[in-house]
Amino acid sequence: MCGGHHTHREHTTHEPQTQTAVNVTPVATHPCPTCGKPVQDDFVVCPYCGTQLKRSCPSCGRAVDVNWNVCAYCGADLTASVE
Ligand SMILES: [Zn+2]
Ligand SMILES: [Zn+2]
Repeated sequence: MCGGHHTHREHTTHEPQTQTAVNVTPVATHPCPTCGKPVQDDFVVCPYCGTQLKRSCPSCGRAVDVNWNVCAYCGADLTASVE
């Protein structure tokens, strides 16, 4: 790419001082088991299709993964509460 002189002056509204590159935060995502869209690990419900991704621990009430057998927060047995 040569000869491409940028004569057009762009209107920069943002100052270089307030340049915050922390806009893109790497969040852990995994595909929704129902629709396959990327959902964050801490999402409780898929915002796209409404599938419940996590449930509440019956003991401590924290959001736990539906695939967990034991609550990682309080150690409660989660398999006993499944249906
Ligand atoms: Zn989904
Ligand atoms: Zn718990």
